[in-house]
Amino acid sequence: MSSTPAILSYHAHVYYDPAHNRSVAEALRQRIGERFAVQLGRWHDVPVGPHTAAMYQVAFTPEVFASFVPWLMLQRDGLDVLVHPNTLAPRDDHLQHALWLGDKRALKPEALPPRIAAADESPIVPNTTPTLDPT
Ligand code: ZN
Repeated sequence: MSSTPAILSYHAHVYYDPAHNRSVAEALRQRIGERFAVQLGRWHDVPVGPHTAAMYQVAFTPEVFASFVPWLMLQRDGLDVLVHPNTLAPRDDHLQHALWLGDKRALKPEALPPRIAAADESPIVPNTTPTLDPT
């Protein structure tokens, strides 16, 4: 058996349709930022990288997982969310090790390298200032 790689961080990719439910995604994003110390990524109204739909990324440390992900399970408001670990193996992290809230979306495997160097994994720098209790 191979050893379990370390999970350096996680991403939650929140998918939306710019023509139909961007406002729902905006409301969720605001509520996340009010409650969790996470790194909110840019809006991508057109698909980027391995993603096949509009989305924004929420990057967070393993310490935040246990409070944030259960909250997201209950509060995603119908949006589909990909939650994946970052272990320096992007292809497996997205395609084999991910969990999905809502419907599973297609991803582009060719846009996911099998391995990256530790220096290429961005550290999480929270850019939110939470003031509300998650519960
Ligand atoms: Zn990601």
